[in-house]
Amino acid sequence: MARFESILGTVGNTPVVRINRLAPAGVNLYVKIEAFNPLGSVKDRLALGVIEAAEKSGELKPGQTVIEATSGNTGIGLAMVCAQKCYPLVVTMAEQFSVERRRLMRFLGAKVVLTPSTGRAVAMVTKAVELAKTHGWFLTRQFENEANADMHSRTTAREIVDDFKGDKLDYWVTGYGTGGTLKGVSRVLAKEMPNTKVIVCEPEDASLLTSGIAQERNADGSAAAPHPAFKPHPMQGWTPDFIPKLTADVIDMKVIDRIIRIPGPDGLKMSMELAQKEGIFVGITAGATFAGALRVAAEAPKGSTILCMLPDTGERYLSTPLFAEVPADMTADEVAISRSTPSAQFPA
Ligand code: PMP
Repeated sequence: MARFESILGTVGNTPVVRINRLAPAGVNLYVKIEAFNPLGSVKDRLALGVIEAAEKSGELKPGQTVIEATSGNTGIGLAMVCAQKCYPLVVTMAEQFSVERRRLMRFLGAKVVLTPSTGRAVAMVTKAVELAKTHGWFLTRQFENEANADMHSRTTAREIVDDFKGDKLDYWVTGYGTGGTLKGVSRVLAKEMPNTKVIVCEPEDASLLTSGIAQERNADGSAAAPHPAFKPHPMQGWTPDFIPKLTADVIDMKVIDRIIRIPGPDGLKMSMELAQKEGIFVGITAGATFAGALRVAAEAPKGSTILCMLPDTGERYLSTPLFAEVPADMTADEVAISRSTPSAQFPA
């Protein structure tokens, strides 16, 4: 660690950590913990990447309002970058995403415009496009913006290549939301670590890639309609109701070795297992990606090395099904501990 000129200097350079108790014997399983980014998710990288690219190209003018459609983490990352760089920020967000995300963005100074859950991801994107056109705001277009993938090629991919230099990496496991991580990292791995297999996880309930059905697209690359294989799933931040342009590019690049379908409950379960068995506190998509990595680990030859992306912190999910079984009141066990000494007991 060093001194930084602003919070923006702390984006990226996230740690790679060995899994000890949850990994099968004979396999080296590592996780890259994106919760170490300043606002707790992988999307801090995208936020900084797209804003700086737009400043450089002149597309974003000083003081211009920035707008994006986001399930939360992008908005939170953008709110940090916009706060530091003095751009007003408006975020459109479907109402079903967790309440703490909205409040976090508002706390960081952003305005959050909700869209009805019936319209899903396509509706919040349409709303953002409309607002940008009407008011002359800068739309970051996270699902199509090449600056998203470029940032991952420049940072995430470089970090991975450096961290495994002189060693081998047999599998890299990720999910996709925009596909920025997937596209930016996989193209660097294909060039510099061609023996590393790229494994992509997606929700079992929304196996858009597995379906093989192409996405209908507008001329600018945005989705023209919801994908027919989409069904709601609990992995907030993964697989919207369309295949993003950045993700489709990776299919066309033919660098994906395997696509694994992850049932929703597995994501929730593995998030909790990571917390309770490894002390790694991460969100639902992290648990889901980890479930995929464990499947790879179970079938991999002895001595294999696997790296699994963990996109965000678990703190973002307190009001979601991830914490549904976690009681606020004392459990019977806890009451028994309390009763085992005389002081400070509650009446029975
Ligand atoms: N997990 C979570 C929680 C996310 O917010 C995102 C980004 N939407 C992802 C995974 C996927 O990252 P990417 O957009 O780079 O595909």
